[in-house]
Amino acid sequence: MAGTKIQAPEGAVTVLDKGFVKLVDFMGGDMRAVESARVSFGSVSKGEERDRKLLEYLLEHGHFSPFEHSVFQFHVKCPIFVVRQWMRHRIASYNEISARYTEVHDEFYIPEEFRAQDTINRQGSVEGKLDDARLTEEYSAAIEASYSAYQALLKAGVAREMARGVLPVSQYTQFYWTVNARSLLNFLDLRMDKHAQLEIRRYAEAIAEIFRAKMPWTWAAHRRLNAK
Ligand SMILES: Cc1cc2nc3c(=O)[nH]c(=O)nc-3n(C[C@H](O)[C@H](O)[C@H](O)COP(=O)(O)OP(=O)(O)OC[C@H]3O[C@@H](n4cnc5c(N)ncnc54)[C@H](O)[C@@H]3O)c2cc1C
Repeated sequence: MAGTKIQAPEGAVTVLDKGFVKLVDFMGGDMRAVESARVSFGSVSKGEERDRKLLEYLLEHGHFSPFEHSVFQFHVKCPIFVVRQWMRHRIASYNEISARYTEVHDEFYIPEEFRAQDTINRQGSVEGKLDDARLTEEYSAAIEASYSAYQALLKAGVAREMARGVLPVSQYTQFYWTVNARSLLNFLDLRMDKHAQLEIRRYAEAIAEIFRAKMPWTWAAHRRLNAK
């Protein structure tokens, strides 16, 4: 086994079998969006009821820029195939651990159960009565074989940047993600949707809880509008 595995930091929310999401920093909040929207009129809070109505009005009418003044910074650990979907969200900042610089740990996502291929939505999966015990054995054996090849290549002097080529996309990676509330709502809409892959959905659900705790009025208004 390579190096020391990075444990979930204090306050992190566990996601999947070995992943996590941790809010590292946060700036802003519901009132920041209210104040940003009202700065054009030179006024700030007008009491909870009117402030909440303003937030709903802004979201309903596409006046999203006041939400850009609230910023979340997360530390995330997730499988490579999840991060590939995540990083398609361009309106955010990313810094990821480098497998050129550090040796990859033997940490890979092992699903609790296997879903079957959806034949209608060709991108999706459905619950299926599959032989989970046998499939887990096969899946894990493939991972073990590739990790052992990785170590053999390193031992033979191959550079980390080349040896990693034998590792599967279930390998866990880590990154810092800084994203404003507007972009985060877009991410949550897309990645909590039932069409998103279940694994990234689990991360989106964990992040939605953090959003709800930090910007409860905005979250409630957003949910209400989505439910219409
Ligand atoms: C269920 C699902 C399936 C998907 N399947 C595929 C797939 O098969 N193949 C694939 O390649 N991708 C796929 N994607 C990724 C998807 O196409 C988006 O790239 C991803 O969801 C990021 O969304 P976004 O562009 O809204 O986010 P961001 O990149 O964060 O952008 C936020 C918003 O900024 C604006 N914006 C950002 N960049 C530009 C730009 N260059 N020009 C104009 N406006 C911009 C847009 O309004 C955009 O909505 C899938 C996504 C989901 C949720």
